[in-house]
Amino acid sequence: MQITVVGTGYVGLVSGACFADFGHRVICVDLDEQKIAALKAGYTPIFEPGLEQLVASNVAAERLSFSTDLAASVADADVVFIAVGTPSRPGDGHADLSRVYEASTSIAKAVRGFTVVVNKSTVPVGTGDEIERIIRSTSPAADVVVVSNPEFLREGAAINDFKLPDRIVIGLDDERARAPMIEIYRPFHLNQGPLMFTGRRTAELIKYASNAFLAMKITFINEIADLCDRTGANVQEVARGMGLDNRIGTKFLHAGPGYGGSCFPKDTLALAKTGQDHGSPLRLVETTIQVNEQRKHAMGEKIVQAMGGDVQGKTVAVLGLTFKPNTDDVRDAPSIAIIQLLKQAGARIRAFDPQGMTAARTIISDIEYAKDAYDAATSADCLVLVTEWSTFRTLDLKRIKSAMTTAKLVDLRNVFRRSEAEALGFSYHAVGMPGPS
Ligand code: NAD
Repeated sequence: MQITVVGTGYVGLVSGACFADFGHRVICVDLDEQKIAALKAGYTPIFEPGLEQLVASNVAAERLSFSTDLAASVADADVVFIAVGTPSRPGDGHADLSRVYEASTSIAKAVRGFTVVVNKSTVPVGTGDEIERIIRSTSPAADVVVVSNPEFLREGAAINDFKLPDRIVIGLDDERARAPMIEIYRPFHLNQGPLMFTGRRTAELIKYASNAFLAMKITFINEIADLCDRTGANVQEVARGMGLDNRIGTKFLHAGPGYGGSCFPKDTLALAKTGQDHGSPLRLVETTIQVNEQRKHAMGEKIVQAMGGDVQGKTVAVLGLTFKPNTDDVRDAPSIAIIQLLKQAGARIRAFDPQGMTAARTIISDIEYAKDAYDAATSADCLVLVTEWSTFRTLDLKRIKSAMTTAKLVDLRNVFRRSEAEALGFSYHAVGMPGPS
């Protein structure tokens, strides 16, 4: 099949490379000339494990190419995917669909012959209807079917998630799209993989409902962690005891600094807005958003308290800036809010992240960026672990302690062992694991 993917970000580039790996011919298109120039030069503009090799091998096999020319790239495509960003609209939290609509208009002008337009961007229920309306009004003669195929990959494990998905949701209201969609996902179809066909609106809502549910699960265990802190219970054991119940499951029950990233914050906001717009408020989701927002500040406050209530002129070493490990994405990461709060309270920040510092520098410029964790810890009054990169799990805490001015460790991911840290002389503060009282 000839596939064009419009939008070459985390989702578009991974999808395009994986489709090419399935044997399809794929053109990835983006407005961003630098991004496309980098890809053409053999450089992958985002950090995602395994992606560089996957892109390189499919480019070498002449199945994958890159372009900024949307019209030329779409003209001969059997299927065109839309994978552009849908950030929050400032002010009201609604998803900003301008990029999706712009892409739809450009696609409408360029299609030739029967074409399936598949929206992979995360969008509010009913957006597929609007994409279809835009295409019909822009090019009344265009022979186009609009499908929803939301993406569930996680950054940091994106290729594996794409190739071994729990499910592939395909929302279509016109049967002519079924055969091409089965052809695209042929490797899964042949193995009786988890392809799920639904109506288009249902597919759109499955994506938001899934993300909101996961965000709620994280927020739930975070509140239980707070209760553990007050009562002497251990949240890791509570989570394990809950998660062993198959109806609950162990995943997304890790207490921490609150969810962040480029999806959960904006998708929960957009779903809540959709609920309000339709007179069907989603009160659990609305509360989840509020609790998570407060949590980032509470974490900043927790650090201040661990440092004796006053951080003026003191140095805090922050380990981990990305919203999760194995990505370079810092969009809406808890680290950003925490650092801002500490700075407002007068602290100096020395931060380190294995992949996120380039992106972080564009958001926070007035902190020191260290060359590694030990450098960050040098002369620090407190070390805060915000993102649980595996390299931080194996830190030499003895060496860290000897580099620091004051041995305080705030572990917002419950990665270290209290007994070990305390034996080394750290004052250790975790989340929902108060230790023996
Ligand atoms: P991104 O910001 O990394 O990439 C989007 C790309 O689209 C950018 O490179 C941008 O230049 C390009 N673009 C914007 N308008 C364009 C246009 N009109 N024509 C061509 N290119 C255009 O975004 P992302 O993280 O890949 O997310 C894309 C969508 O997928 C969003 O709706 C997001 O919610 C959803 N999603 C993201 C993830 C994730 O983990 N990042 C997972 C599942 C779903």
